[in-house]
Amino acid sequence: MNRLIRFLTGCVLASGVCFNIAAADKPHILLIHDMEGLAGQDDPYSFVYGHPKYPQTRKQLTADVNAVVAGLFDGGAGKVTIADGHGSGNSDADVIVEELDPRAKLISRPTYFDTYLDLAEPGAFDAVAVVGMHSKSGTNGFAAHTYSVGVQASFNGHSITETELVGMLYGAAGIPVIFASGDDRLAEDLRTMPWLRYVVTKKAKSVSSVELLPVAVVHSAMTREAKLAVQKRASAQVVKLKAPIEVAVRAVPPASFRWLKDMPGIHFKDDTVSFTASDVRAAYIGMRPLVSAMHSSFNAVERSVLSKHPDGTRLKYQGRIELFRRWIEAESAGAPPAPAESEDVGDYHGFY
Ligand SMILES: [Zn+2]
Repeated sequence: MNRLIRFLTGCVLASGVCFNIAAADKPHILLIHDMEGLAGQDDPYSFVYGHPKYPQTRKQLTADVNAVVAGLFDGGAGKVTIADGHGSGNSDADVIVEELDPRAKLISRPTYFDTYLDLAEPGAFDAVAVVGMHSKSGTNGFAAHTYSVGVQASFNGHSITETELVGMLYGAAGIPVIFASGDDRLAEDLRTMPWLRYVVTKKAKSVSSVELLPVAVVHSAMTREAKLAVQKRASAQVVKLKAPIEVAVRAVPPASFRWLKDMPGIHFKDDTVSFTASDVRAAYIGMRPLVSAMHSSFNAVERSVLSKHPDGTRLKYQGRIELFRRWIEAESAGAPPAPAESEDVGDYHGFY
């Protein structure tokens, strides 16, 4: 849509009547937020829905997002759309919608979508800004991980951050990432994207501790840099990855892939599963089920918590009985039914 408007603007400008169509050529920016790289945030559990500090973290998230939104509009954005790239477990949005800058709109869809993949369509946005991001697993940045706890991912031999992943997936649709915020470790990870207007929100001392920076100073830097990001967006690069792509997904504690190692057809070594993908979307789509499968290694953690819980035996029994109830229901229907399409219908803002 915007491309068409730009083309039309050029035509109309040549004829000397450029007024209100030129105004429509203001860029549409997608703002994707995560929840680990926020200003004023220093608790490595605070971004988990249900944690006592989660409500405060939502406020910090909303404040960071609003500071960036202000800058994007100052820089000339015509429209800012927000999507949740975190997924705290809260079925509502992680941002506090009533406190959002009213000029920005939180995306809302009736069915689940993948923030990194399903919005990355050619022409859908002019640029992407990412807020509250974190460094990759193994870097000792605050809350460092890649896509999921327990994952390190490499594309063509380079261990990636989620910001680079966003850059690649939106890059495949011709859309550049122009702004990012997070800790000082992520700033180092993102030397691969030198055109980014980057704001350091805090200094990582370890995965679980930080040296905070004055929040008001960080917010004014966010507004200033987001404005510049829009104004200078022509110099931002669209990330293109050489294909085919060698993908390696490594499980790091508390996760493990070791139960996959004897499976025929799987390239497995050093708790790493690897495969070749034809392009970056195929690389990401191939990585997701591996991460889902890897999550089964977290069951041992839940079982261990339950076994120490005073009511743990009863809860484990209830879980098993519910599983058996669903099995009997499925078998009673005759031939096992085909897996149902997602029944999840609700109000989705991105990852949850
Ligand atoms: Zn997150």
